[in-house]
Amino acid sequence: MSHDFTIARKRMVKNQLAPRGIKDERVLQVMGKIPRHLFIEEALAGEAYNDHPVPIGEKQTISQPYIVALMTEALELGGNENTLEIGTGSGYQTAILAELSSKVYTIERIKSLLVKARKILAQLGYNNILFSAFDGTMGWSEYAPFDAIMVTAGAPSPPKPLIDQLADNGRMIIPVGDRYTQELIKIVRKGKSLEQKSLGGCRFVNLIGIHGWHDEEM
Ligand code: SAM
Repeated sequence: MSHDFTIARKRMVKNQLAPRGIKDERVLQVMGKIPRHLFIEEALAGEAYNDHPVPIGEKQTISQPYIVALMTEALELGGNENTLEIGTGSGYQTAILAELSSKVYTIERIKSLLVKARKILAQLGYNNILFSAFDGTMGWSEYAPFDAIMVTAGAPSPPKPLIDQLADNGRMIIPVGDRYTQELIKIVRKGKSLEQKSLGGCRFVNLIGIHGWHDEEM
């Protein structure tokens, strides 16, 4: 069975990531290595390498592999970064960030998801991750500034504390829009100014918090 997952993972990289323009060899290599199926409950593990998001409980999802690759590549990680992730979810994206940065700080508002993610990440041997069950729209000022910030839930606008905690030349990737569709935005700090560009349309679950959406609606 684990052999099938290895083949599915290789196919995912070959058919979903590389042909759509993901070029960063480190991103392709890491996504070809991390066992994504272990971050998903057993009954749905067969869908782990498919070209779509998969439910992870608590009405949340693990993102489509291509979107994970696109966002990770855009962070331009070189290996020495202090990286902040908002929305740990299953912990899959956290594992990728932990492979490509020096230290990862990850925040998840739903404690049961954080507990599961922490367990699997420990089993896989990651020891450069700090976890917090909190409102990630506040950032994590104790460990700021961050060279890279990855937000994996859709916000009405980029939360000010996250902008404030971005280091000089730091990169932040965040989906911004309404509750149902967003644009993936890359923000780069250059001294006191911010450069911003769009990486295209996307659809994420809501970022809920003081500097995000204020309730779950729906
Ligand atoms: N990157 C994750 C993965 O690889 O499984 C998927 C993340 S899922 C699309 C978005 C996550 O953001 C959900 O688990 C949700 O609970 C979390 N979230 C939403 N608002 C948050 C907030 N203010 N602080 C921290 N986590 C938040």
